[in-house]
Amino acid sequence: MLDRYSRLINYLRISVTDRCNLRCRYCMPEEGIRLLRHEDILTYDEIAGFTRVAVKSGITKVRITGGEPLVRKGIVTLTGMLAAIGGIHDLSMTTNGVLLDRFAGDLAKAGLQRVNVSLDTIDPEQYSFITRGGDLNDVLRGIEAAKKARLLPVKINCVIHESPDETNAIEVARYCRENDLEVRYIKEMDLEEGRFSVVMGGSGGNCAGCNRLRLTSNGKLKPCLFSGLGYDVRTLGYEEAIKQAVGHKPQRGRKNINDSFYNIGG
Ligand code: SF4
Repeated sequence: MLDRYSRLINYLRISVTDRCNLRCRYCMPEEGIRLLRHEDILTYDEIAGFTRVAVKSGITKVRITGGEPLVRKGIVTLTGMLAAIGGIHDLSMTTNGVLLDRFAGDLAKAGLQRVNVSLDTIDPEQYSFITRGGDLNDVLRGIEAAKKARLLPVKINCVIHESPDETNAIEVARYCRENDLEVRYIKEMDLEEGRFSVVMGGSGGNCAGCNRLRLTSNGKLKPCLFSGLGYDVRTLGYEEAIKQAVGHKPQRGRKNINDSFYNIGG
């Protein structure tokens, strides 16, 4: 499907939860978050049902995100339900890797093709500081498990302040070279200020070529990360929500004061 600016929209990012087992400083507020009510979260049947309709409309690439997708119960089952939908050529997941060691094998068997893992530093103290208490070893074990399960290529999402020349970024790059991993640098973003840039080594943030829609865990279909627009798939119905989201997709992102990263999935 094409939007008003003749961009091919073929990529759906699905946030399956607003919950996370980490508290990264650039994502989660110190005081914690007000979690969505259980009944507001889309069921697996709703997510699969919506995705089936989205694929019929032209979506060929699907990414499972969060919060942290691996904290949602039955995530392997959902992955299998999505993998069973014909027409999805690329099924991937973005995870913080903390639980990946436990799930990698089952996710691969269920049909997941590849993963992106968040890793901003390979210094254990820095990692614990950035994530407010995370254990770096969990993520490194998770990355090894993903490689072993052949969820390839394993890509590393490294958040930077300004430049890949920052110490943490240089060390992550070296770790990636030594472990046959692809690194992508994501400059810290701010939804309310409308601060974002093109992902270095990736395609995010390039408005002129933007191909994506985002489904939030509480069923809002968002045409753009840096816009407050969102179309409720439960009240509008799947087809109409897709039509509205693609029809109103902005030419470029501005700012978003309605949402937070942890419930859109970046
Ligand atoms: S800001 Fe919006 S239009 Fe630009 S790349 Fe991101 S989602 Fe696409």
